[in-house]
Amino acid sequence: MLNIKEMMYFNIGSIAFYLATLIFVPILKNEKSLLIYLSDIEIIAHATYATHLLGWKPDFAMFLLLIIPATFLTQSRRFYIPFIITFISMGTYLYLKLTVTDDTVFKYVLEDAGTLRAMHMTNVFICVFIMVFSSAIFMLHREYMEFKLINQRETFKNLASIDPLTQLYNRRAMNENIRTIRRECPTPSTSYVIGIGDIDNFKRINDTYGHDIGDKVLVYVANLFISLIPKGGYAARWGGEEFLFVIPEATIKDGVEFTEKIHKSLRAHIFEIEDCEFGVTMTFGVNTGIQTDKIDSVITKADKRLYKGKNNGKNHTEFTD
Ligand code: GH3
Ligand code: MG
Ligand code: MG
Repeated sequence: MLNIKEMMYFNIGSIAFYLATLIFVPILKNEKSLLIYLSDIEIIAHATYATHLLGWKPDFAMFLLLIIPATFLTQSRRFYIPFIITFISMGTYLYLKLTVTDDTVFKYVLEDAGTLRAMHMTNVFICVFIMVFSSAIFMLHREYMEFKLINQRETFKNLASIDPLTQLYNRRAMNENIRTIRRECPTPSTSYVIGIGDIDNFKRINDTYGHDIGDKVLVYVANLFISLIPKGGYAARWGGEEFLFVIPEATIKDGVEFTEKIHKSLRAHIFEIEDCEFGVTMTFGVNTGIQTDKIDSVITKADKRLYKGKNNGKNHTEFTD
């Protein structure tokens, strides 16, 4: 429109360049930031050439300053490139300040104030658009990374605290749960109950039907714990075929009642796996603790009761010494 031929040719070249980047985006894959840096060079060249031809009034040189923050907002593995671009861009700006002065005689003289204002405002709008665009991308990227990190932290926390086969808490997480329950006892005399259950003759199940069937039995028993454990309680896979549960603000009676539910469900269930039918029973040792008791001693006592139960014919719950 202004009949500035040099800029027209330059812009045809620029459009060809930006169209070419569309082709290169899928090809370059991990090196896409290279295209952005090439665009920065194009912007520097364009701003310099336009200022040379038209002077400072339309303020194409504004782009030389603008691309500095925009370059830093570009995601790239090469952290030093924005510094190089800053150096080039600022150097060019200073060079223009020294070479394009009030005394410079331009090939094209823009006399119409309206045209000048329109060019200037267009440049300001483009600059603002680029800044808002790159800053918004940066902000969204940061939000996304934060979201991803929180998710990952949850996943790792789960991996570190859940037994992969049974989906029950593992021993490490369970120790933490028991500590929490003990700490949160409402009064010093409020008891919590801990029980250890062990599948009876599990070795025989493994030996007779195979390890995979043994695993299926473990998962079934674990699901019983998950569905029957009272509110506020936790169940864990304590060892191979050993389970530990803890119920807050509970007495021996509550603990025994819970194990009776497990006994009842197990006795009622016939495992039918690949033409084989068999039943599974468990033995439990149950004990209570209060805030001043050491957790280890509470568990050890429950374990002793379990052992006593094994010696007393299995398939029941022991709750006395
Ligand atoms: P008891 O009634 O006295 O508890 O006898 P038991 O056979 O259950 O006890 P024992 O300690 O002799 O055997 C436990 C078996 O549990 C031995 C081990 O191979 C098996 N086991 C431990 N972990 C797993 C597991 O993850 N999957 C399977 N399938 N078996 C396991
Ligand atoms: Mg056993
Ligand atoms: Mg055992």
